[in-house]
Amino acid sequence: MVLVDIHAHLDHHAIYKDIDAIISRAKKAGVVAVVTNGINKETNRISLELARKHDIVKASLGIYPPDALDRECDVEGFELKPFDIDEEIEFMNSHPNDFISFGEVGLDLYNGKDVKMQKEILSKIMRLAIKQDKPIILHSRKAERELLEFLEDYKHKKIVLHCFSGRKHLIRSGVEKNYFFSVPTNIVKSDHFQRLVEMVPITRLLTETDAPYLSPYQDKLNEPAYVAETIKKIAEIKGMDAREVENNIYLNYKKLFE
Ligand SMILES: [Zn+2]
Repeated sequence: MVLVDIHAHLDHHAIYKDIDAIISRAKKAGVVAVVTNGINKETNRISLELARKHDIVKASLGIYPPDALDRECDVEGFELKPFDIDEEIEFMNSHPNDFISFGEVGLDLYNGKDVKMQKEILSKIMRLAIKQDKPIILHSRKAERELLEFLEDYKHKKIVLHCFSGRKHLIRSGVEKNYFFSVPTNIVKSDHFQRLVEMVPITRLLTETDAPYLSPYQDKLNEPAYVAETIKKIAEIKGMDAREVENNIYLNYKKLFE
């Protein structure tokens, strides 16, 4: 088995405490790579630490739009340590061999509103992604069209739209641009992601959990082992064998991340 989870938050306190068990369940399920995505300085460091400790874990470093993150943390009831954004970007610039991709980054106008500031940070990271020739894992919330327009200005070939919730014409435009779409495990109950899989060719699909979020099971937190559920659903929609889907997605992962 060669399952890949290209977007998880293993640093998240809800699952971090069980990390050894989670990694061993992932291996048992056939997961060969989990890309754990940082969103600020603190979580970026945990991503690096996890990648050093566990062979299947790969680090991705990101800066999530800070205004959106602040608001989200207020809602969830925890506090983030302040950090210097430019210093963190410089850290990414000077440690290119320690991580395989950039993310989670993006535009979030659902929780945040300073789109100018969000774009400034994103363009600095985008330039680094181009310079280091690494994939960039992007999220957009209530900013799908803005994000696609923003991407037009950068001729980066390694764009991954994670959890893309834009409408049909925006999905189509992402496909035309040869972007990759990463499909979360909640596809099992989401009409939107089922439709997205119909529209995006298998050569442009990736799989993720977004653990601990977006679980395919109502009563369980998400974890990388469950990425198998996404594969099953894609196979059903595409009328393909699950093994064939798995191999295709693994090849997409290798092409992009290695
Ligand atoms: Zn995420």
